[in-house]
Amino acid sequence: MNKPGDEIEDMGNDNGLLLVLSGPSGVGKGTVCSALRQRMKDIVYSVSVTTRAPRAGEVDGVNYFFRTKQEFERMIEQDELLEWAEYVGNYYGTPRRFVEETLASGRDVILEIEVQGAMQVKRKFPQGIFLFLAPPDLEELKNRIVGRGTENEEAVRKRMEAALAELELMNQYDYVVVNDEVGQACRRIEAIIIAEHLRKDRQIHKFRKWLKEE
Ligand code: 5GP
Repeated sequence: MNKPGDEIEDMGNDNGLLLVLSGPSGVGKGTVCSALRQRMKDIVYSVSVTTRAPRAGEVDGVNYFFRTKQEFERMIEQDELLEWAEYVGNYYGTPRRFVEETLASGRDVILEIEVQGAMQVKRKFPQGIFLFLAPPDLEELKNRIVGRGTENEEAVRKRMEAALAELELMNQYDYVVVNDEVGQACRRIEAIIIAEHLRKDRQIHKFRKWLKEE
């Protein structure tokens, strides 16, 4: 049982990988994550908790756990969240226990979260695999932010500023995947996941009996 502030224990070689897909707002994390889940059905998606209202078609427990601000604050207090952040006036967070139990059962877990949250996970669980989804160029990012709809010039400018600050965090990640095309981005991520599973440190325990030292 974790006490508040404890790191997640490194649970050994047979545990799943914790994959953290993050990047600036407007880069297309949600789209890439959905496409990846279609492609790699064994990866378990961590459903986040949020205080924002459901959008048309969103289902509680599938897209998010929709909770009140009060309930969210209780979860923070009781250390039920692996990370959390405030984003455009709402709270978003990752339920801790689900992630721990799924990893311990040997399955890979993917978090699709914004950058502040990803940096918290990195502090608590440095053995996670941190993937930064980058826009092909800044013009494209601006188009996506403007394309989202009703925002005025000032709001677009603020979002661009925020996105530029988020880009600065790229250096903290293990991999940078350019989202020029969703299918391509997914193939790159799939290659990373396969390679991560084949790392010597995750394989060698299966071959101990072949090795002289033991
Ligand atoms: P949206 O409201 O569009 O679904 O999500 C807004 C932003 O919150 C996106 O950048 C999304 O990646 C991020 N997000 C979703 N769930 C979480 C979470 O559990 N923690 C953090 N830190 N960010 C999240």
